[in-house]
Amino acid sequence: MIKKAYELICGRRIERIDEDTFNVIGVHGTYTVVRGVDGSISCSCAGFLTRKRCSHSLAVMMLTQPALLMSVKREIERERRRQKSKR
Ligand SMILES: [Zn+2]
Repeated sequence: MIKKAYELICGRRIERIDEDTFNVIGVHGTYTVVRGVDGSISCSCAGFLTRKRCSHSLAVMMLTQPALLMSVKREIERERRRQKSKR
């Protein structure tokens, strides 16, 4: 799910509507992600309703927290290198 969220960011699939509202263009449709005053993030997709988390809300979380985005980026690049050396 983290990788999927990262790909949403890299593919510029997130559109900022205003300070706390984002449109995320996912594989199955476009969803609205809203950030609450307490920093909590909610998404309009079905996955978020059932699991309370999804790649869209995660992507917005990463986008609004540069430190989190950096650590995810490092982790994904490390994994890519590992897979490359296996081949
Ligand atoms: Zn979602």
